[in-house]
Amino acid sequence: MSKKTETETETLGFQTEVKQLLNLMIHSLYSNPEIFLRELISNASDAADKLRFSSLTNKALLEDDPDLNIHIILDKNNNQLTIEDNGIGMTREEVIDNLGTIAKSGTSEFLKKMTGDQKKDTHLIGQFGVGFYSSFIVANKVVVETRKAGEKSGVYWSSAGEGEFDIKAIDKKSRGTKIILFLKSDQKSFTEDWKVRSIVKKYSDHISLPVKMMKVNDVSDESSDGDDDEKSVKKEQVIEWETVNTATALWTRSRKEIDSKEYIEFYKHISNDFNEPLKWSHNQVEGKLDYTSLLYIPSKVSFDLYNRDTPRGLKLYVQRVYIMDNAEEFLPLYLRFVKGVLDSQTLPLNVSRELLQKDSQTENIKASLVKRVLNMLSKLSKNEPDEYQKFWDTFGDVLKEGPAEDYSNKEAVAELLRFTSTQSQNDKQNISLANYISRMQSEQKSIYYLCASNYEAAKSSPHLEVFRKKNIEVLLLTSRIDEWLMTNLTEFKDKKFQDISHSELDLGDLSSEKDKKEVESLNKEKESFLKRIETALKNEIASVRVTDRLIDSPVCLVASEHELGEQMRQMMKSMGQDMPETKSIMEINLSHLIVKKLESIDNQAKFDKLALTLFEQAQLSSGKQLSNPSDYVKRVNELLMER
Ligand code: ADP
Repeated sequence: MSKKTETETETLGFQTEVKQLLNLMIHSLYSNPEIFLRELISNASDAADKLRFSSLTNKALLEDDPDLNIHIILDKNNNQLTIEDNGIGMTREEVIDNLGTIAKSGTSEFLKKMTGDQKKDTHLIGQFGVGFYSSFIVANKVVVETRKAGEKSGVYWSSAGEGEFDIKAIDKKSRGTKIILFLKSDQKSFTEDWKVRSIVKKYSDHISLPVKMMKVNDVSDESSDGDDDEKSVKKEQVIEWETVNTATALWTRSRKEIDSKEYIEFYKHISNDFNEPLKWSHNQVEGKLDYTSLLYIPSKVSFDLYNRDTPRGLKLYVQRVYIMDNAEEFLPLYLRFVKGVLDSQTLPLNVSRELLQKDSQTENIKASLVKRVLNMLSKLSKNEPDEYQKFWDTFGDVLKEGPAEDYSNKEAVAELLRFTSTQSQNDKQNISLANYISRMQSEQKSIYYLCASNYEAAKSSPHLEVFRKKNIEVLLLTSRIDEWLMTNLTEFKDKKFQDISHSELDLGDLSSEKDKKEVESLNKEKESFLKRIETALKNEIASVRVTDRLIDSPVCLVASEHELGEQMRQMMKSMGQDMPETKSIMEINLSHLIVKKLESIDNQAKFDKLALTLFEQAQLSSGKQLSNPSDYVKRVNELLMER
C-alpha cells in the first residue's frame, strides 16, 4: 500500500451493504425526503451528548467552546443546506467506519429481508433507522468536514453516494462536524427558511440541543435610506442566530406540557423506529430512588427481536447527562421490546456497565420500572382492549418468557396472557385467564389446557371429547413456547393448571364417584384384553388402559407422569438437545366400534395389525410424525379392503 501524505485525497469504496442500503433508501423513502433533517439533527445531538459525557473526565475537550448547539445554514444561490454541530466530531478512522460501512449487527440479515416491494421495504427501513445515509435522498453530493474534540487535524469526506467516497486531512478550526448537502435540483425547497424551520419544529423540538437558524431580519430594509451599499453592509451586520426548537430534554418537561406528537417524535429519535409507538408512560419519581423514566411500547416488532445479541435496554442519563445507550440492566429480557429513557438523579456520573451491575439502586430501579411497564400493559388491556390485542399479537410470545424469568411478577404477567380456547371461533388469542375463570363451572377446580402444534390440530384433538360433552372450556396452546410457559405457571388465583393430555386427568368433582369407579372396574374386567394390546405394542407404548375421556375416538395417547409433551420435545430438539424417545400410555374407548372389533379378533397377526394402526392414528392426532408413514398407509389400505 502506498504511503499517503496528510493532504492527499484518497478514494475508497463503500462496503457492499452500504451501496445496497443507499440504493434501497433513495428509492423507497423518496416520498418522505424531509426525514433526512431529523436524522442529521439526531446524530448531532448524540455527538453533543457524547462530548458532554467525555468532558466529565476531560474538561479540556470543551476547548473554549462549551455551549453545545447546532447551526443550520441555507444557501439559496448555491442550492445547499449545511448543518453544523460542535459535538464530539470524528477521527479519520471513525469517518471511514461510520460513513463507509454499516456496523450494526444484523445488517445483512436485514438486507436479506428486503423484498423489492416498496411499501414493505419502507417499513423495514423504518425499523432499521437510516441515519446519515438519508442525506442522499435529497442531495447528489454530500461533504462532511469534521474534527474530533481534542485532536489537531480535521477530516474531509465527500461522496455522491454512488459507491465511493473521497477522504483527506484538512485544517478545521472549530471542533465537531459540518455536513454540507448539495441538494438535487428538485429539492430546492430545502433552502426555504420557513420550510426548514417547520421541519425542525416538527421532528426535533424535543431535542435538548439548541438548533439555531439565521434570524430573518428585515429591519435593515425599513431603516434603509436608499443607499444600496450601506444597506448590504447593514444586512450583514444584523445577522443573528435564533433557536428554532424548544431545546429542553423532553423527559424533563412536565407531562401536561407535552403533546402526543412530541412524545411520538421523541420515540423515533431514541428508537431508530419510524413507526409510531403503541403506548408510553412518562414518570418522575422522587424520594430514595430519584429518577425520571419515559418508557415506550413499540407498535411493530423489530426484525431482530429474537436475536439474543441485539442491543436492548434504555438510554441512560444521570442528572441529564447522557451516559450510555442500551443500558440493559434496568429491564428484564422478557420486556426487551420496551424502548425509552431513564434519567437518574442519584446514580454516580461516572457510572459504567460494571458499576451498574454492582449498584444496589439498579435492582430497585429495575423492579420499579418492571412494575410500571406491567401496569401500563394492564391499563391498556382494560381501557383499550383492541390496542392491547395488537400488542399481544406482536409481543405476546416475548411476554410469555416472564413467568420463568421473573418469579415475583408471575401473577401480574399471568393476568396479561391471552389464549385461544375451545370457546373461540378462530385462532385469535384473546382470552385472558380471568375470562376463563369467570366461565368455569361451579364444580370446576382446575384450569384445563391442551398444547398442540397449531390451532386446527388442537381443536380436533381426541383429548377434548369429554370436555366438549361436559361443556368445559379448555385453553388451546399452540405457540412454540407454550408448553414451556406452562412448566413455569402452575396456578393462577388458586386454580391449578392441568394439561389434559397428561395421564392423570383429574376432572375432580366434574366426574362423579360412580363414573370413576366404573372406569376402575372396567380396567380390571378387561385386563386380559389390555394385556393383549400391550403385548402387540410392547415396543411402542408404556401401558394401555380404559378411559372415559373419549367419546368419538377409539384411542388416544397420554403422556406418562414425567414425560415431556411434543411441543417441548420439538423445542429441545431444535436447540440441539438429544431427546430419547419416551413411551406414552395408550387409552382406549371401550364403547367405540373399532375397539369392540379389535377385542373380537382371534387371529394374532390381524389383531397386531389393527392395534398398531390404532396406535399410529393416536400418534397422528397428537401431532407426532410417524416413523414409517408409507407402512401405515399400506396397512390402512389393507384394512379398508378387508371384508
Ligand atoms: P446511527 O446514528 O444510527 O448510528 P448513522 O448512519 O446516522 O447511524 O451514523 C453512523 C455513525 O456516524 C454514528 O453512530 C456516529 O458515530 C457517527 N456520526 C454521524 N453523524 C455524526 C456527527 N454529527 N458527529 C459525530 N459523529 C457522527
